[in-house]
Amino acid sequence: MICSTMLPFKHRIEKSLSERKAQGLYRQRTCLSRHQQVVDCKGDTFVNFSSNDYLGLAQDPELVKAWQQGLTLFGTGSGASPLVTGFLSAHHELETQLADWLGYERALLFNSGFSANQALLFTLLEKGDVLLQDKLNHASLMEAGMLSPATMRRFSHNDMSALQRTLSHYSELPGNAANQSNNATMVVTEGVFSMDGDLSPLAEMKTLCREHNSWLVVDDAHGCGVLGEQGRGSCNHGKIQADLLVVTFGKAFGLQGAAILCSEETAEYLVQFARHFIYSTAMPPAQAYALSKSCQMIRQDQWRRDKLLELSELLSDRVDSDIDLISTPTSIKPLIIGDSDKAIAASDELKQRGIWVSAIRPPTVPANTARLRITLTAAHSRADIEKLATAINEVIHD
Ligand SMILES: *Cc1c(COP(=O)(O)O)cnc(C)c1O
Repeated sequence: MICSTMLPFKHRIEKSLSERKAQGLYRQRTCLSRHQQVVDCKGDTFVNFSSNDYLGLAQDPELVKAWQQGLTLFGTGSGASPLVTGFLSAHHELETQLADWLGYERALLFNSGFSANQALLFTLLEKGDVLLQDKLNHASLMEAGMLSPATMRRFSHNDMSALQRTLSHYSELPGNAANQSNNATMVVTEGVFSMDGDLSPLAEMKTLCREHNSWLVVDDAHGCGVLGEQGRGSCNHGKIQADLLVVTFGKAFGLQGAAILCSEETAEYLVQFARHFIYSTAMPPAQAYALSKSCQMIRQDQWRRDKLLELSELLSDRVDSDIDLISTPTSIKPLIIGDSDKAIAASDELKQRGIWVSAIRPPTVPANTARLRITLTAAHSRADIEKLATAINEVIHD
C-alpha cells in the first residue's frame, strides 16, 4: 500500500473537494442545449434568468449571420499572435470603431476580460506603486492585483471616504506618488458591480483620483452596452472619462473577448510589454468582424435598452413588496438569501417552476450573502417576467 503522504496531490485534491462539499459550496456545471430558453440534459425547459447576454444579442440572427460572413471572408482562426501575422483588417476596424464610440485614442483587443485585466495590472504596475481596489471587484482584478508587484489595498465597497483616506495615507508616505514621480497610484473599480448590479460613484472617484494624481481604471463588463448614450456604458452615464477602460464582449456584446481603451502612448506601451497580448493567438478575425456588427447594433438599437428598463419596472412592480429584491438601474437584480444551502434550495424550487436562476455563493460573494442573481435581458418577454415574479412570490414566502 502507498502511504498517503507519498501522494500529496491526490491527498490535497480529495481533502479540498470534501471540504467544499461539507461547506455547501461545491460547484458543478450543467450541460445546456440552448440558452435563451434553457434546455437541460434531461430535456426540461426553463426560462433563463442567469445569462449575461443583457441585450439579447447572443442568439440574434443578424449577429449570427455576421459571424458567418466573417468566416467566409477570413476563414476560422487568426493563425498567429497580433505582432506576428494575427492582426487583420477585421481587428483593426473593430479597434477603430471601439475607440471612436467610447471616446479614446486607442482600443487594444484581448481574448478575454480576464486576460485584459491581468495584462493591464501586470504591465503597468511596478514595485513601490499603490493599487487601490473596491472590495467587490471581480476575481480577475483581485487576482491580478495580488500577483502584481504593487502594494494592493482594498477599500470598502463604494466608500469614497475610505478611498480618500487611503489615497491621502499613501500620498503622504515618503517615496510615493505625490513625493516621487516614479511611483504611481492606480484606483480600480467596476462600473457596474457584477453580483450586486449597483453603480460605482464614478464622478466622485474621478475627482479623488485627480486630486491625488492617481489613474482611474474602470472595468465596465456589465455597464458597456447597457448604460449611457448609445450604450457607451457607466462612464458616459456618470459623465466622466476613465484613464483606462476595460470592456468585455461576453456580456452585452453577445460574443467573447475584451478590449482596453486608452491613450495612444498607453496602447503602444501595452503592445510592447503586455505578455497576455504579445504571446497569445489573436482572436479569430471572423469574431472581430462579428464584434463590429455587435458594436453597431448596440449603438443603434436603443429599443434593447428601453426594453430592459420596461422589464425591470415590470419585475419590481410584480414582486411582492416584502421581498427584498434589490432595485438597480441595471439588468442585475440580486435577491440576497444569506445561507448557501437556502440559496440552493430556492434556486431548485424556482427550477421546479420552469425558472433558471443560479444561486451565487461564497467565495464569489462575501460570506453569508449567498444570493439569487437574477439577470434580465432584452430577449425576455413580459410574460417571462410575470412568470418569474409569480415563482419568486411563491418560493420566497415559503
Ligand atoms: C466577466 C467579467 C470579467 C471577465 O471577462 P471574460 O471575458 O469573461 O474573461 C472581467 N471583469 C468583470 C467585472 C466581469 O464581470
